[in-house]
Amino acid sequence: MVQFVDRYGRRFPYLRLSVIPACNFRCTYCLPGGYRPEAGMKGPLSLAEMGRLLRGFAMLGMHKLRLTGGEPSLRRDLVRVIEMAAATPGVTKVAMTTNGCLLKRRLSDWCAAGLTALNVSVDTLDSPRFAAITGHDRLDEILAGIDLALASRLTSVKLNAVLMRGVNDEELPAWLDYLRERPLTVRFIELMQTGENRVFFQRHHVRADSLQGVLRAQGWQERARASDAGPAREFAHPDYAGRIGIIAPYSKDFCKACNRLRVTSAGDLRLCLFGEFGIPLRHYLQDDAQQPELVAAILGQIGQKHAGHALLQGHTGITPHLAATGG
Ligand code: SAM
Ligand code: SF4
Repeated sequence: MVQFVDRYGRRFPYLRLSVIPACNFRCTYCLPGGYRPEAGMKGPLSLAEMGRLLRGFAMLGMHKLRLTGGEPSLRRDLVRVIEMAAATPGVTKVAMTTNGCLLKRRLSDWCAAGLTALNVSVDTLDSPRFAAITGHDRLDEILAGIDLALASRLTSVKLNAVLMRGVNDEELPAWLDYLRERPLTVRFIELMQTGENRVFFQRHHVRADSLQGVLRAQGWQERARASDAGPAREFAHPDYAGRIGIIAPYSKDFCKACNRLRVTSAGDLRLCLFGEFGIPLRHYLQDDAQQPELVAAILGQIGQKHAGHALLQGHTGITPHLAATGG
């Protein structure tokens, strides 16, 4: 295996691949006006292009893949994408992050195709609030889909909830009720500033690490981190089947545990969610014979990865919203 490590000694076993830029939801912090394609935008990678991309990253030690977007379940050939990813030599985990809009209808097909883990974005357990945040009054249906996922053979089910001051930052008691009997992890994600959400961010940003003290006071204990774990911190409690994760990108040393790279739906490598540039890889994905060039191109760029993002200085890089980068 080629040695694939950056200037700070970090390795990258984890790739997040956006399979489609479009989304049907209008989350207030992400796409409040809904998805609009940019002029001149290139279409998403084909199945064959993705296959070559994944084989190239797998040669560099990638073994965990997350399919994201936009909303990945809107991609028509998603089942074939999952099958192809699961069949890529070296790939042992195929995860997906979804808003859950097609969860009930498609879960069994995704599992049969080889999906191993699922993250569903659920910012609130309150239906009217869910409708206000996403533009869709579909919380009950999505929660039913999550219960199906728990009964499936997926090895991991996690929920993502973006914390927003004055919107959903007082829901811990409801989440604790929800977690008592359900063996899943709810991850509270600190709202991040992006190119287009500055005013929203200023109004609603709340530090996620302040939750840690609250949890510890209620008997939640931080778990040891797995070797391939990313920057999330996870807490467990003997009285609860579920766990709580905290993702606090504004906390000190958050980027030290970075273990991931991203590729946009059009095939641009992003070294950081908030980086200043993308590296086009698509022209290396046109023929199987280009594999050595692709691997060399990725290897050649990893030295450009910075120690950390500059969000605290207000620099959001070229990311207008996380749907564009495959958040
Ligand atoms: N549409 C899918 C979904 O929502 O799960 C996948 C793409 S979405 C960009 C991936 C994750 O990023 C979601 O959990 C979403 O809540 C989160 N996200 C989007 N914008 C964010 C922001 N500004 N700050 C923190 N998390 C954000
Ligand atoms: Fe769509 Fe996900 Fe962004 Fe919500 S967070 S608008 S579901 S891409």
